[in-house]
Amino acid sequence: MQLDSKSPTGPIEKRWEDHRFHLKLVNPANKRKYTVLVVGSGLAGGSAAATLAELGYNVKCFCFQDSPRRAHSIAAQGGINAAKNYHNDGDSVYRLFYDTVKGGDFRARESNVYRLAAISLNIIDQCVAQGVPFAREYSGYLDNRSFGGAQVSRTFYARGQTGQQLLLGAYQALERQIGAGQVEMHPRTEMLDLVVIDGKARGIVTRNLISGRIETHIGDAVVLGTGGYGNVFYLSTNAKGCNTTAIWRAHKRGALFANPCFTQIHPTCIPVSGEYQSKLTLMSESLRNDGRVWVPLKKGDKRTASQIPENERDYFLERKYPSFGNLVPRDVASRNAKQVCDDGRGVGETGLAVYLDFRDAIQRLGKHVIKERYGNLFDMYQRITGEDPYQEPMRIYPAIHYTMGGLWVDYNLMSNIPGLYVIGEANFSDHGANRLGASALMQGLADGYFVLPNTIGDYLASNKFDKIETSHAAVRDAESNVTQITRKLLEAKGTRSVDSFHRELGKIVWEYCGMARNAEGLKKALSLIPPLREQFWRDVKVLGGGEELNQSLERAGRVADFLELAELMCLDALERNESCGGHFREEYQTPEGEAARDDEHYSYAAAWEYGGPGQPPVLHKEPLSFEYVHPAQRSYK
Ligand SMILES: Cc1cc2nc3c(=O)[nH]c(=O)nc-3n(C[C@H](O)[C@H](O)[C@H](O)COP(=O)(O)OP(=O)(O)OC[C@H]3O[C@@H](n4cnc5c(N)ncnc54)[C@H](O)[C@@H]3O)c2cc1C
Repeated sequence: MQLDSKSPTGPIEKRWEDHRFHLKLVNPANKRKYTVLVVGSGLAGGSAAATLAELGYNVKCFCFQDSPRRAHSIAAQGGINAAKNYHNDGDSVYRLFYDTVKGGDFRARESNVYRLAAISLNIIDQCVAQGVPFAREYSGYLDNRSFGGAQVSRTFYARGQTGQQLLLGAYQALERQIGAGQVEMHPRTEMLDLVVIDGKARGIVTRNLISGRIETHIGDAVVLGTGGYGNVFYLSTNAKGCNTTAIWRAHKRGALFANPCFTQIHPTCIPVSGEYQSKLTLMSESLRNDGRVWVPLKKGDKRTASQIPENERDYFLERKYPSFGNLVPRDVASRNAKQVCDDGRGVGETGLAVYLDFRDAIQRLGKHVIKERYGNLFDMYQRITGEDPYQEPMRIYPAIHYTMGGLWVDYNLMSNIPGLYVIGEANFSDHGANRLGASALMQGLADGYFVLPNTIGDYLASNKFDKIETSHAAVRDAESNVTQITRKLLEAKGTRSVDSFHRELGKIVWEYCGMARNAEGLKKALSLIPPLREQFWRDVKVLGGGEELNQSLERAGRVADFLELAELMCLDALERNESCGGHFREEYQTPEGEAARDDEHYSYAAAWEYGGPGQPPVLHKEPLSFEYVHPAQRSYK
């Protein structure tokens, strides 16, 4: 299979403009003749559905929550990047582009990243026009703060609830179109299969999560904005409902899955507290603007933080990376936290935590300033741990947070299946092997508000769409696939809960394909996952029936898909004999313990093709080339 990224050439700052000019347009009067199915109502799906409807297309939008405004994007705390340079601190579109390519450890497409950086400016204008209440300075300018991997302040925020405010903006735009009759909204509806006819994506099969009714929806194009798959690890900072089902089932219909092993570990999460915990909580990266990360110098030091004098503390990020200090990128901060804990210098009961200390910032700025900046995050920490972070340092540890892998897409955000578009965290994205903080919201909204609405028209205008009857063989096949999966899950009548399988899978993936990986461990994981999957189908116990609200059944289907995806992740990690970004293979590191890339052999996006039941997947490679930001060992020193 030949992968055509459709990446434009020429001067980088003109590529998107030129490309856009050459895309075919759909006449305004003809737009109403097309129906676009948008799966997902988060920042990516919500913004895309609203914008496509605003343009005049008929849109059907789907989400599994009871309301589009409950999509996981609502959880985003810290902020959204944009190269506005309001602080006059040296920022520019080029610098955001440079930081993102470097931050992703040179495993992203330059053309895409430059477009993302340029569009960041439009996003802020769009959201302000919608009334998103970004934090402002006294002068009235929008305020900014810093995030990891950047030496400028370019992160726009609304206290610690930026995602919620941005989602309310997109949601209002979506509601306007629902009210206007241009969007047909299907909440509590889960997409369980993709309908491909004559090689084109023409529909989806869904299950109504309240009645259990299986339905097919036909359209002229399908857009997946279904979020990330971090919950494959069971414990993650993602909302419990986040899953891989939509993209995994599209993968099984032929869509290539790119870089599945590129997952992001976030350095600042509340540490795991016990075996029965089902979720982890993020403490936003924004806290590293003012919080200082440290551990005791001595191993096994059991004194409380306040008993440890200044000269017996190791501010290890500031020591090792004086230029970026506590704001090194996430992969670097996470690896260093793991190293000091492995070294026996971790704090708290388990020794798997480091301090995030606000003492100096409170002394310098006053408690009221810290409260204004991060009040809701401090409250959240106190409610969960019972400790007051204004008095004693937070304890934090890395946890799974984001997935850079996802369905492969070209420059137009179209997968290798014509008519199937993938946006937001669900695609393999512009972040390479490591995403910089505050860039996911930027990418989701760039895709949904600005890129897809331009590129989809080219596809619609260039193709003819036959009318599809729901009696079509491909529709019948997809419906029967969904019915069979549901029936099989209900009929297993085994002895183990869905969650017990999920937890076991999560431990395997975290242990062998988590923050550090090696060939031996990955091979072990590859030997453990297939028997666990086989046991799942034999021994899972799903209570309740298929024609009612049944969350056990919903979870079972999602865990079944995680059990397949996990194997591909380990295979991808094993195949990539180098370290880059969040993919840290212990065999490949510099003498200082940093990720050692192998550009000669691995400068490509790995795009996996489903091989069929019981068959190995097939690897395709999209070579990456760098004309502007030349690959070098990343340095934050
Ligand atoms: C705790 C936390 C804090 C974060 N903070 C930040 C931050 O400060 N800045 C930043 O840039 N990024 C942040 N991120 C990352 C960012 O929030 C996400 O990457 C982003 O919101 C994903 O948006 P999305 O639209 O792609 O997906 P989501 O918001 O996850 O939306 C997915 C949508 O798809 C629907 N869906 C999924 N599967 C199906 C299916 N099979 N059928 C029907 N519907 C389906 C869901 O119902 C939902 O509507 C944070 C992430 C977490 C976990």
